[in-house]
Amino acid sequence: DLTIGVLGLQGAVEEHVKQVESLGIHAIIVKRPSQLNEIDGLIFPGGESTTMRKLIDQYGFFEPLIQFSKEQKPIFGTCAGMVLLAKELEGSEVVHLGLMDIVVKRNAFGRQRESFEADLEVAGFDSPFHAVFIRAPYIKKVGGGVEVLAEVDGHIVAARQGHLLTTAFHPELTEDSRFLELFVEMVKESKSKTFQKA
Ligand code: GLN
Repeated sequence: DLTIGVLGLQGAVEEHVKQVESLGIHAIIVKRPSQLNEIDGLIFPGGESTTMRKLIDQYGFFEPLIQFSKEQKPIFGTCAGMVLLAKELEGSEVVHLGLMDIVVKRNAFGRQRESFEADLEVAGFDSPFHAVFIRAPYIKKVGGGVEVLAEVDGHIVAARQGHLLTTAFHPELTEDSRFLELFVEMVKESKSKTFQKA
C-alpha cells in the first residue's frame, strides 16, 4: 500500500491531500522530518517559495529532503514547489533544494497574467489538460536528463527528470487527476525497485 505525503509547512496543502485521497491512496500532511520515513512519495504544494524555504530550514527539513531524493523516492513539485526543486533561479543567487536540472524563472508570466488558465498539450496524454496558473514560474532551461512534458507560449511548464516531476501550474485545483496519476505511477515504480533491492 502506498502513502503519499504533502509537505504541510505552507500553501495549498489540503487540495493535494483531497486529490490523492480521491484516487483511493493514503495521504498524510508532512509537518515533521521523521514523517518522511512513512511515505513513498512527496508533493511540494504551491504557495510562496521563500516562506516555504524558511520553514524548511526552521523545521530541520533541508537535509532530510535531500536524503529522500537521494533514495530515488519521487517528489512532485507544483508551482512554488518547482522553485524549490530548481538547481538555479534566474536573476537570483538563491538556490533552494537544487535537486532538478532546471533553470526556473519566478513569477514569470508578468503582472498582466498573474493568474490564467490554459489548455495544454501534454506528452503522453491523449487530450488537453486544463491548467490553472497562479503567479506561476516557468522553466527557462533544462539539462540533458530532463523530459519536457508541456509548454505554454513556448515556455516549459511541466517536466520530469527520473523520480522528479514538476508543474508550474496547480493540478490539484482541477478535477483532472492525470498528473497525479502519472506521479502515482512513478511512486509505484520506485517502490517496486526498493523491494527488489531489499
Ligand atoms: N510565485 C510563487 C513563488 O515563487 C509561486 C506561486 C504559487 O505557488 N502559486 O513562490
